[in-house]
Amino acid sequence: MDLDQLIKKVAEEIKEKKEVVAFTGAGISVESGIPAFRGSQGLWEKYDPEQYAHILTFLNEPAKVWKMLKEMFSIALKAKPNIAHIVLAEMEKKHYLKAVITQNVDGLHQEAGNQKVIELHGNGRFLVCISCYSKFLFVEEYLNIEPYPVCEICKGPLKPDVVFFGESLPEKALSSAYELAESCKIFLIIGTSGLVYPAAQIPYYAKSKGATVVEINLGGTPYTYKITDYFLKGKAGEILAKLSDYLF
Ligand code: NAD
Ligand code: ZN
Repeated sequence: MDLDQLIKKVAEEIKEKKEVVAFTGAGISVESGIPAFRGSQGLWEKYDPEQYAHILTFLNEPAKVWKMLKEMFSIALKAKPNIAHIVLAEMEKKHYLKAVITQNVDGLHQEAGNQKVIELHGNGRFLVCISCYSKFLFVEEYLNIEPYPVCEICKGPLKPDVVFFGESLPEKALSSAYELAESCKIFLIIGTSGLVYPAAQIPYYAKSKGATVVEINLGGTPYTYKITDYFLKGKAGEILAKLSDYLF
């Protein structure tokens, strides 16, 4: 079957079964201009994420980590949803999609119009004080503060409200994700390398509970040969645009 026939087949299955849950990673936001950790050039060649996005590095050297954060968020705060995000929002409106489980922290699913979004790694549109836990909207002015922004209440360092390496995932989000993985009929993996645990475990659970697994990615991942039923190779925006032609 060629790619186009495969997409058509997936669309037919979605129409018949509905109950889709999407599981997204950094790859879905690449077409919005935000670089992924893997499979893209730029930011992450300069900064190793496992070092710079580690909580211990942040606690010990906030100024060093903020140098990377300023570069990343000067892109991310301006980014707009792309066609892939928009198709997922449309699928929710048409009652094909139950929810999006995302590893992303860019808030683009909500901005595209999805109502039910489970954020496994937090939301980078907010800053949180690491001393008193006050939260602030992450407006662009914070990017100009040297060496890094501090809490206006207690002067503690502010950190984007996202899960760093070495931190645990929000429990409620994780349990909702597992419930969705258990109850859905189609599990749609988009733009994730499947390497960042514990989030990466969720697709295997969906498959074990009987979901059909559809995967969209530029190349193969650990899921591809183990659990993927339909592999749609290509850019998320292009594949989802085609899928929407068959769906709506
Ligand atoms: P990853 O960077 O490890 O992998 C990205 C995957 O997307 C790769 O498999 C790549 O082949 C694929 N990809 C790249 N461009 C694509 C496109 N146009 N269409 C389809 N697929 C494409 O991403 P991950 O698995 O999400 O893990 C990285 C972690 O880093 C996540 O937990 C996330 O929290 C964080 N992160 C988030 C953002 C964001 O919020 N936009 C950006 C970078 C990293
Ligand atoms: Zn504070």
